[in-house]
Amino acid sequence: MAALLEAIGLVKHYDVEAGGFFRRTRTALRAVDGVDLTIRSGETLGLVGESGCGKSTLGRLLIRLIPATAGQVVFDGQEITGLSPKALRAARRAMQIVFQDPFGALNPRMSVEETIMEPLLIHGARRSAETRQAVTRMLDMVGLPDSTRYRFPHEFSGGQRQRIGIARALILRPKLVVCDEPVSALDVSVQAQIVNLLSDLQGELGLTYLFIAHDLGVVKHISTRVAVMYLGKVVEVADKRSLYARPSHPYTQALLASVPVTHPSQRKRGVGAQPVIAGDIPTALAPPSGCRFHTRCPHVMPVCRTDEPAMRPVGTGHDVACHLVAPGPPM
Ligand code: SF4
Repeated sequence: MAALLEAIGLVKHYDVEAGGFFRRTRTALRAVDGVDLTIRSGETLGLVGESGCGKSTLGRLLIRLIPATAGQVVFDGQEITGLSPKALRAARRAMQIVFQDPFGALNPRMSVEETIMEPLLIHGARRSAETRQAVTRMLDMVGLPDSTRYRFPHEFSGGQRQRIGIARALILRPKLVVCDEPVSALDVSVQAQIVNLLSDLQGELGLTYLFIAHDLGVVKHISTRVAVMYLGKVVEVADKRSLYARPSHPYTQALLASVPVTHPSQRKRGVGAQPVIAGDIPTALAPPSGCRFHTRCPHVMPVCRTDEPAMRPVGTGHDVACHLVAPGPPM
């Protein structure tokens, strides 16, 4: 599969005030700190990590909803980090986002029809029978009856609101959709419906997804490949099968161990029986030296405290940043 999007050395630092009441200093919050990432055309790349690791910031950087501090993003052959506002607006037709909070993402004063139609109007379409037809098609695709078009967001359940958000994101027929924790705010019973809907729409419309989640259980079914992020860095990326069968970074292993195991046969095999990761994620204002995971890693060695591990291949399409792993055969 060819690359649809490529991020090279992507950095996002926020200038913030830190310190006590009497000694405030300005410092950089390193939300994303040097990420190289490829999203292939037609795939779903799962992006996983704890809250505060920078994954949502990375998702927004990739589609230039926020400007990068440094680095490049090449989307569909075009470098988008330096685009003018006009050129960026044209490019953004092909890059859309589905937000985590389906209620907060919708304007409570806009009807379903207005909400879904708005991106078309922003991109120059006129309100017409044709744009109303486009809304009808989108409602049908996301499984909402046409009769809902004149209703308002507060009249819907969380799952239905997320369907409206998906319809709005897809009406411009984008190539890439960033799904930013699209099921985290929903009841467990509704999560699978939304994941299945996104999966069906991907097949129907030939979409490429970046699917952001905070645990590996959620992305397992929908992802083609998975990238694991820790404190502003990607620490492991692999095909889904390889990552779940052979998680190589201690942080990925800990995330997998924290996925609840429900099937008795898995429990018998000891899946999910490893200790869950201890402590909180350190602050991005002063990330640990060397390997950023060393303050929580059960396998920490002296070198981990001083030297940052580089990404190294441990198998075909499976890269890991850890001093512990032996490099695989040359690619
Ligand atoms: Fe643990 Fe060291 Fe590997 Fe970091 S580099 S994950 S501290 S073993």
